[in-house]
Amino acid sequence: MGPFPVLMTLGALLLSGCGERAVPSIEIEGPTMGTYYSVKVARPPVGMTADALKLAVESVLDRVIAEISTYEPTSELSRLNANPGTDWIPVSPELHAVVAEGLRIAELSDGAFDITVGPLVNLWGFGPDARPEELPTSEQIQAARERVGWRKLELRASPPAIRKTRGDVYIDLSALGEGYGADRVAADLDARGVADYMVAVAGTIRAKGLNAKAQPWAIAIEEPLADRRAVHRIVPVSDRAISTSGDYRNFFVKDGKRYSHEIDPATGAPVERNLGSATVVGERAIVVDGLATAFMVLGEQRAPALADSQGIAAYLIVRDGDAFRGVATPAFDAYLARSMPEERAAGTAEQPE
Ligand code: ADP
Ligand code: MG
Repeated sequence: MGPFPVLMTLGALLLSGCGERAVPSIEIEGPTMGTYYSVKVARPPVGMTADALKLAVESVLDRVIAEISTYEPTSELSRLNANPGTDWIPVSPELHAVVAEGLRIAELSDGAFDITVGPLVNLWGFGPDARPEELPTSEQIQAARERVGWRKLELRASPPAIRKTRGDVYIDLSALGEGYGADRVAADLDARGVADYMVAVAGTIRAKGLNAKAQPWAIAIEEPLADRRAVHRIVPVSDRAISTSGDYRNFFVKDGKRYSHEIDPATGAPVERNLGSATVVGERAIVVDGLATAFMVLGEQRAPALADSQGIAAYLIVRDGDAFRGVATPAFDAYLARSMPEERAAGTAEQPE
C-alpha cells in the first residue's frame, strides 16, 4: 500500500477492435489506501456508466479498508491490534482469510514475509506514524523484535477467530492489501457480468479477458529507478494477477545511505540487497502481492530457489552497477511462451500513455 504505483498500464484505447461495433471503454481512477486505484473495462455491459462503476468500486475498496487497514484507527484490524488480550478474538471471515494467506506466505518464505513485522515497519518510519528524525537505536529494534514473529499468532477457522500469544503483537497486512483489494474489486465486477477488465491498486493488477484492442492487457514492468519512470518490459496479462514490489519508490536516505520499506524480520532493519524489484504472476492478486514482497526480503540469492521449488512465475530485476539484469524463473518463461504468441511478441506493445 505504498504511495507510488510500480506498474503502469499502457494505452488502453477508447474504442474496441476493428470490425466490431465501437463500444466505448470505461476508465476510472481515484485515491485509495494511501495510493491510487484504476479500473478499465472494455466492452462494458449495456447500461454501465463510469459514475456507477466508480461508486461500486469505491464502496468495495472502502469495505476493504474498514477490514484490514492499519491506517484507519476504527478498522477491524486496528481494533484487533489495540486489543491487549491473549484470548481468542472473533473476527470476520474476510479478515480471517487475509491473515490466513499472510501466515501461509510467512511459512512458505521461512519467515522472510511476516505479517507481525509492523512494530519494526513503524519504528523505521514506514507505517502510520511520522518518521522520526533519528534512526532507531539497537535497543529500540530489539524491543520491537520481541513483539515480532508470525508464530505468535494462532488462527481458528470456525467460527473465525485469532489469538495473539502476546497481547502486544501487531498485525500489518500492508504487503497484501493492494492485492486483496484488487481481488475484491474483481469479484464484484465478475458478479456484475463484466467480462473484460483490468483492476490496478498501485503495483498490483488483476486482469480478465481482453483489452479494447481485443488483446491481453499489456502491463509494463518499470525499471527500478527512483528519479524517473521507464518501461523495462511489457507483460501480457489475461485472467491473471501481477504484482511488483520494489525498493525504488518508498525509501528514505540518511547520511548517504538508502533505507527502503521492506524490513527483514531476521535483522529488524530494512533489507540491503541488489534486488531492485520483484514481479510475480499468478491467479490471485493477494498471493502475488505477498509473494512479490517476500521475494524482495529474500533477495536475489534466495528468491529464485523458493520460486523454482514452488513453480512461481517471477521476474526479478537485479542491479549490476549502473545496469539492470532481468532474472526470469522457468515458470515465468513458460507463462510468457503461453501468453505471447509470436506475432504478438514484438512490435505490437502499446505505447506508454
Ligand atoms: P508496495 O506495493 O508499496 O511496494 P509491498 O506490497 O511490497 O508494497 O508491501 C510493503 C509493505 O509491507 C511495507 O510498507 C510494510 O508495511 C510491509 N512489510 C515490510 N516488510 C515486510 C515483511 N518482511 N513482511 C511482510 N510485510 C512487510
Ligand atoms: Mg506486496
